[in-house]
Amino acid sequence: MSVINILSPHVADMIAAGEVVERPASVVKELLENAFDAGAQNVTVEIRGGGAPYIRVSDDGCGMAPEDAGVAFLRHATSKLRDERGLEAIATMGFRGEALAAISAVSHIELLTREKGSASGTRVTLSAGDIQDMGPAGCPEGTTMIVRDLFYNTPARLKFLKSDRAEAAACVQSALRCALGRPEISVRMLRDGKEEFFSPGDGREDSCVYTLLGRELASSMLRCVSEDEGLKVTGFVSSPAAGRGNRSAQYFFCNGRFIRSQLLQAALEQAYKNTLLTGRYPACVLYLDLSCASVDVNVHPAKTEVKFSYEKKVFDLVYHAVQLSLEGEKRSAAVELSPSTKKAIEPKADFYRSMSAESFRQNGYSVDRPRAAQSAPARPQTPPAAEKRPDFSAAFASLHASSPLEQTRLDLSPVQKIEKFEKKVPDSTEKAAESVEKPVQNVEKPALPDYKILGETMKTYILVEVGEELLLIDKHAAHERMNFDRLRAMDRQILSQTLLTPAPLKLDAGDAELLEQNGELLSELGFEIEPFGETDYVIRAVPADILASDAVPAVEEILEKLRRGKAPDRQSARDEILHTVACKAAIKAGWDTSPAERERIVREVLSGRVRYCPHGRPVSAVLTRRDLDKMFKRIV
Ligand code: ADP
Ligand code: MG
Repeated sequence: MSVINILSPHVADMIAAGEVVERPASVVKELLENAFDAGAQNVTVEIRGGGAPYIRVSDDGCGMAPEDAGVAFLRHATSKLRDERGLEAIATMGFRGEALAAISAVSHIELLTREKGSASGTRVTLSAGDIQDMGPAGCPEGTTMIVRDLFYNTPARLKFLKSDRAEAAACVQSALRCALGRPEISVRMLRDGKEEFFSPGDGREDSCVYTLLGRELASSMLRCVSEDEGLKVTGFVSSPAAGRGNRSAQYFFCNGRFIRSQLLQAALEQAYKNTLLTGRYPACVLYLDLSCASVDVNVHPAKTEVKFSYEKKVFDLVYHAVQLSLEGEKRSAAVELSPSTKKAIEPKADFYRSMSAESFRQNGYSVDRPRAAQSAPARPQTPPAAEKRPDFSAAFASLHASSPLEQTRLDLSPVQKIEKFEKKVPDSTEKAAESVEKPVQNVEKPALPDYKILGETMKTYILVEVGEELLLIDKHAAHERMNFDRLRAMDRQILSQTLLTPAPLKLDAGDAELLEQNGELLSELGFEIEPFGETDYVIRAVPADILASDAVPAVEEILEKLRRGKAPDRQSARDEILHTVACKAAIKAGWDTSPAERERIVREVLSGRVRYCPHGRPVSAVLTRRDLDKMFKRIV
């Protein structure tokens, strides 16, 4: 008896629907991408409930001819790919011709579409993939796709959906990623009648980031631009001071498409090594532009995974780009004023908007992207309708207003800087990751600006006048970083100091085990710890920098870090131990500091070598004349 059946195309579509249409959020993504591919300038996404009851996507793109409107829902129906030659260089978001077939197989659909310049439009309704009704209809140019009752005929899939709240949040996130990837297209997202976000679509990465990710995140972001042999990366990375608890604010785009990539994530995080504490992650919005032929997006149906033809080149480019923007960051973080002071000096609400975009461009914040640079819509586009939109990029730029201190920075163009680093890049990706530990030293020392040390306040902060700016330095944080860099640069045995009286240490079995495991490393770093009976140990020597009284607290702190799994490999264990030593060896807030010591710290900070303590906290802050004038209402 034969057991093999050939499935009907209808059943095959329902199975395929599982690959492309996992949940309402995937429908939002597919429909938005279709709108982008149609050359739309403005797109509205609306969902109700968790998205399963109702999803609408309206665009002002090229629309469809009546004869295409029905065909679009057939499997492998696409206007974006003709034959296999096209597969090698895909410039559109879609190309498989699967999405509409898959979505329509598991929902009720209403399509309204009108081709540009055509006198009337077309309305098509479908249920479970079958056309119910089709005919001419009045509608604006462009396309509106309404998907109702998603998964109504696949109860098993419906059961797997999470709460409405969770599904709606996933829809919003999915639309946000699409919008963030295409600053030249304005996307409005509505959820149960309420606006969730609205991107201006003015082609500027900065205004896109500001409106979609919010003022707080935007204000912690640094510009990032690099280009090398046809590869280009632009966008923003967060200042180390704004490290986050997870990776959810890392957005990578490849030719306008949101992607997940371990390679890019590694390149990004590697650049933050030792400025961010273990367990903290940078945020980023990075746009990678490369020729369509050097990336394969046809790896996964959802197209969020890609394969680069030149992985090492991509890694190096991103790594160096991020590193350069971190290095170029203002040496001192801006002073965080108290909310009441801020309120008192806050410019009027519409101040940002009244400033001309031109003045900000002059500040070097122009990030214009060519409209629809990557997509190759089959039909022509209309010019942008951006006049009525507020200029968010202005607000963004003002968050980053430059300071005179910045002028001490090396004045190299990003491309020149890349060349400087290029010579030192070893041949494999892993090696590149390892070899870049002391990047700052690779660059010539900048000259120090003129400065005057005014004194110290609260036995904690050193006050320095630099031109028209008042610099405040956290002496402990700065000294901790100096110690850390110095210790870390010593390749071998760190100078040890034998304690006059060995310090007893009581450990439980787990900690004793950790101590044994890391014994060799600890002794290399200057700790001499020996068993003393069953579970007792004695510390006989510690690194020369730390006081005898800190011996036990230091070892306890190190064990605590190791216990919490903060050091999965030898290199990070070494770093964690050195963090502790550097911290214990640093001058403390509350201690008296000699003028010579103060001077040494100030010079290190002004040189730009010391910017963050090993935990990622800033070591200094600046009050400019403008800040003070505003505070005293000399200017408004
Ligand atoms: P793909 O995007 O891979 O081509 P889809 O199933 O998503 O496949 O869409 C099928 C076809 O329907 C597209 O190739 C396009 O010609 C047409 N289409 C879909 N959505 C739109 C839209 N919003 N505007 C114009 N044409 C569209
Ligand atoms: Mg598509």
